[in-house]
Amino acid sequence: MKLDDFTKILSEVDNISQEMYQLMKDLYPLCRSITGNNVRKTHEIIRKHLEIQSYEVPTGTEVYDWVIPKEWNINDAYVIDPTGKKIIDFKKSNLHIVNYSIPVKKKIFLTELKKKLHTLPKQPDSIPYLTSYYSEDWGFCLTHNQFLELIDGEYEIVIDSSLDDGHLTYGEYFIKGKTENEILITCYTCHPSLCNDNLSGVTLVTFLAKYLSKLSLNYSYRFLFIPETIGAIAWLSINEKNTFKIKHGLVATCLGDSGSFTYKKSRRGNAEIDQVVINVLQNSNSKFTLLDFFPSGSDERQFCSPGFNLPVGSLMKTMYGKFDEYHTSADNLEFVNANNLKDSITKYIEIIFVLENNAKFLNLIPKCEPQLSKRGLYDTLGGQKVNDLTKNAIQWILNLSDGENSLLDISNKSGINFNIIVNAANMLIQKNLLQKHI
Ligand code: ZN
Repeated sequence: MKLDDFTKILSEVDNISQEMYQLMKDLYPLCRSITGNNVRKTHEIIRKHLEIQSYEVPTGTEVYDWVIPKEWNINDAYVIDPTGKKIIDFKKSNLHIVNYSIPVKKKIFLTELKKKLHTLPKQPDSIPYLTSYYSEDWGFCLTHNQFLELIDGEYEIVIDSSLDDGHLTYGEYFIKGKTENEILITCYTCHPSLCNDNLSGVTLVTFLAKYLSKLSLNYSYRFLFIPETIGAIAWLSINEKNTFKIKHGLVATCLGDSGSFTYKKSRRGNAEIDQVVINVLQNSNSKFTLLDFFPSGSDERQFCSPGFNLPVGSLMKTMYGKFDEYHTSADNLEFVNANNLKDSITKYIEIIFVLENNAKFLNLIPKCEPQLSKRGLYDTLGGQKVNDLTKNAIQWILNLSDGENSLLDISNKSGINFNIIVNAANMLIQKNLLQKHI
């Protein structure tokens, strides 16, 4: 990614973030899960913007210590109270059903029904999001306020779902760069009507891939749209022999809220991706939280499992579990907005620009300082004034380009933004003062 491409794409992020938010609105109504037709439908909607390839892994396939589960689909689910009123309706909110509920059609009394109802007493207006992927069960979720109003008597329960042999569906999009070395960017597509966790990740990955695909890139890029946990495990199992190509990676989640950024480092802790994200966040001059790797969380759990230990971190805004709306109906289209998505995709683009351009160089006149003014690097360059920051960047680059320090190291040591360092390095290359160190 050249500096001009970087500047151009950053000038388009206002429009890109509007497109992201519109895609989020289109995806929001679907009752996604780790398998099923709504994952396929999600892929179809994404394909209006990005030609992702869908892959199907059959039920029963062994993937490391796991087995691909049965495929779950749902048409409808509701509860009718003793007066004949439909009081819980899947069609009004797909969070009302415990995701992966088995089919049920029966009448039960309130005392029995209550054992299958889930609420959030501390957030009485929100419906919780619950799943039961790996034990065959059923249940409904509702607001605690609604729960308190339930009357005694017999209730009719209908869950029109199916749990059959089928497939797990995941999506992939690949951009071939100049090298085979890959950058992996992943999101998960298993959450139903929830926005920050994780339609924000899905929309960010879709449009990041779409706009990067138009550019000339050094790295190859692999974007994954996988159901969380089982999808990452399946993908690693199927693609294990190619994982050595992954040089950097990020899990994209929780990127649409108004909080400050959080970076969870890779298990390695000091991988280049960790250094790059920290550099970008430090140069943004706003507050951020840095977390060492921990073995719970999202799909970095699989990518950073000891058998892989890939350099994969996760850049989020407010981390999962740390905002009240997390895994509730309040994580909706009002909780996220295009402006926050813009902030997030800007950071991802900045990170990719650094990764694309980070390299070590050699000062070709290392004995004492080269005379910059006679090369037009001290006052003017082609009529364009070399500003003080660029002059300063030139001095840092010439001093530290001994084959040991990368441009990222120079940015870190000087405190000068990476893009200014790259611009200055380009000037020095043009004047034959700098050469890439291989
Ligand atoms: Zn989640």
